[in-house]
Amino acid sequence: MKILVIENPRPLAIEHYNDVANAPLSASLNSGYALAIARRAGWDPAYLDLTDCQDDEATISGRILAENADLILFHWVYAWGNENIVQNILKILKEGQSGLIGAFGLFPTLACQRLSEFAPGLDFILAGEFEATLDELLSKLSASNSFHSIAGLYCGNGEFVSRERMSDLLQLPIPDDVGANCQFPTMNIAASRGCFGDCSFCFINQYYGCRKRRERSINSFALELEFRLKRRAVNNVYFIDPTFIGYDEKQSGRAKEISCILKSHNLPFGFETRVDTINQDLIGTLAANGATSIFLGIESGCEAALQRINKRITREQIIRAVRAVQGSGITLSVGFIMFEPDSTLAELLENYTLLEELDLLSHHDQTINMLYHSQIILYGSRAWSEFAEQGRLNLDDRLPFEASYKFRHADVMRVCNAMRRLSTKYFTRMDQLYHNQKIASGSQYDCRHIQSPPGVKGDDLNRILKEAFLAFIKFVGNHDNRQFKLLESGFLNALDSCFNTD
Ligand code: SF4
Repeated sequence: MKILVIENPRPLAIEHYNDVANAPLSASLNSGYALAIARRAGWDPAYLDLTDCQDDEATISGRILAENADLILFHWVYAWGNENIVQNILKILKEGQSGLIGAFGLFPTLACQRLSEFAPGLDFILAGEFEATLDELLSKLSASNSFHSIAGLYCGNGEFVSRERMSDLLQLPIPDDVGANCQFPTMNIAASRGCFGDCSFCFINQYYGCRKRRERSINSFALELEFRLKRRAVNNVYFIDPTFIGYDEKQSGRAKEISCILKSHNLPFGFETRVDTINQDLIGTLAANGATSIFLGIESGCEAALQRINKRITREQIIRAVRAVQGSGITLSVGFIMFEPDSTLAELLENYTLLEELDLLSHHDQTINMLYHSQIILYGSRAWSEFAEQGRLNLDDRLPFEASYKFRHADVMRVCNAMRRLSTKYFTRMDQLYHNQKIASGSQYDCRHIQSPPGVKGDDLNRILKEAFLAFIKFVGNHDNRQFKLLESGFLNALDSCFNTD
């Protein structure tokens, strides 16, 4: 029997250019695991990556039907209001007498019931960690045509039994290497799943159904690495674990051991971890063993905000962790939620002060990401229920799976909106520049990898972003709407002037 795993079309939304909240990094291996599970179950697996596909729905449906699959499985990532594309494809597929159709991933898990009403063409949704559910589904379908009463499978009839998370990650097969990942010399790999944190904005624990981090054995990691290195040329590895390192000495030892394995393959690597899991000694060892990049979700520079989002870290820990990385030669990226729903203007300034102190506002590429992010609310998330209860959700009928919220302080909302418009202008101009330069260079290089591509006055751009942020805070309380708009358009024009138009 044949299964077709599909990445849904995800048109670029410039206002969500750099937002990653619609799918955690770990989702990048979901389709690879689904394909490997299917092969192990004796099915014939096929894969269709429609991520960047701009064909119309009829053309896409024709391609899908031509595969003649018994089971079609969408790895459905939230596409910022473009969900109707899959909705329409499903209608055409059903008219075309396709096989069974299902969906899996973070978005179908969070929005399970609402999504199955929105897209009645779906026969089922694999809710939560999907591998064991898919395994059982495929066995049942091989034996008979029945697929009901499977834990973890939502069939839209109101009966749903959740599935216990996998007790041992050894049950996972080696994932296929497919999709956009394979265009890059970086190989994504997982050494663990889940997180012991409980940040209010995060979906990881909801997806896995627990607040636990599960590790795989180091031996199984080493075997997978060796196996996958034979498949394609790779020159570095990135860990997609929500937090690569755990808390205690044993955990530091484990991270060091894994880094030694990578060193023996001469492979640099990157990872994400909580700030309270690292120290100078550990970072030094990992750097010596080839760590080249690290992502830390520091989120805020203000103790009260850190507590509100339940980050369970302190400003002191953030400073220590950032300094440890900055002295190590490892490239640091940080996640930062500048505009938290209850932020005050004083807290925005506190955030800014810490970012300056930590030298995290020295390049426009980083500065824009520090100064504009606000919390994103997806349907089905904990934040959605909390804001709904407080009457603070701003709903929009055209966006059934996404909402914004009412800020506690109107002035913070005005600053946030002004920074969002500035960031949209920034990303639009950058995108045009990348596009034009790619055409001019005959696609010989991807200038996204150059921090300040030719055609940008980088220092001026960085200064303008910082000045705009501070000016918006300073003047928001004593400028009426018209004056504030004038201030804003002055900065938008100044930003424009940093890009050469020829
Ligand atoms: S530390 Fe990161 S992965 Fe863990 S709950 Fe918080 S945001 Fe999520």
